[in-house]
Amino acid sequence: MAAAMSNGAGAGAGVVVVFDFDKTIIDCDSDNWVVDALGATRRFDELLLRLPWNSAIDTMMGELHAEGKQVSEIRGSLRTAPLPASVVSAVESAHALGCELRILSDANAFFIDTVLAHHGLAGYFSEISSNPARVDAAGRLRISPYHDFPHGCALPTCPPNMCKGKVMEEILQELSAAAAAAGKRRRKRVVYLGDGRGDYCPTLKLGERDYMMPRKGYPVWDLIAGDRRAVRADVREWADAGDLERVLLSIVQECATASEDGGGDQDSVAAVVGVVVPECRSGLPLAASAPEMAMALLPKAVHAPN
Ligand SMILES: [Mg+2]
Repeated sequence: MAAAMSNGAGAGAGVVVVFDFDKTIIDCDSDNWVVDALGATRRFDELLLRLPWNSAIDTMMGELHAEGKQVSEIRGSLRTAPLPASVVSAVESAHALGCELRILSDANAFFIDTVLAHHGLAGYFSEISSNPARVDAAGRLRISPYHDFPHGCALPTCPPNMCKGKVMEEILQELSAAAAAAGKRRRKRVVYLGDGRGDYCPTLKLGERDYMMPRKGYPVWDLIAGDRRAVRADVREWADAGDLERVLLSIVQECATASEDGGGDQDSVAAVVGVVVPECRSGLPLAASAPEMAMALLPKAVHAPN
């Protein structure tokens, strides 16, 4: 990934925005989009009956390659995936305000890089954490799990190939360490945007000064609504790309105002570094009671697996 374009110290200098990709940056699921475009929908559904999603999409790419489909056709389909204009302007505006932008996605690096490059957005993101992907010597796209099995998180909303909560913990630790090294009292705030079940675990890792933007009516929104006390971050929902832009930019302005007047930000870096992050195993603050933990682990009504 190329280094992100530099941005000045504006209102968003203290904010790191972490985007999910499927149904957040693009308004579809990239795996389904490619499979549908290449006419393999039914076969992919059959693979999903016996394989985890990440293994099924890799196997699907292998089958399509064996049938003569080229990587250029996969790239071509990704270029037609819907990416709303308001998402482009949200990314550009947040970056211009000084926010650091990242992507945390259970899609794969090849799909994400292709879409971002097509829309001229690649340079805005400093880090992309997703399932590794490469085109092998035979011209077949290989997609691998982000985490080795088992990744150790028992939260049922995390797929076997990736626990986004673990990645979020690493991001928060990195931000705390950077703040401490710079002699600052507090780490940057994180704004996390997502829609799916896999976005619930990282939501539970966010602190009181962070923000979670769940897509209204989608699985992570349902999961958050199912146990509001489990989430410490400030929750701001969004329904469509226009909302996403409006809500995100209002949060950035709010953070700038809070930083200027103190805004009740009492967490010192030392306190943040020292805080015990909830284990993935429970996915809940340590103070949660046993019944609360049991409730949080019960399956919730969700709209779709992805
Ligand atoms: Mg998603």
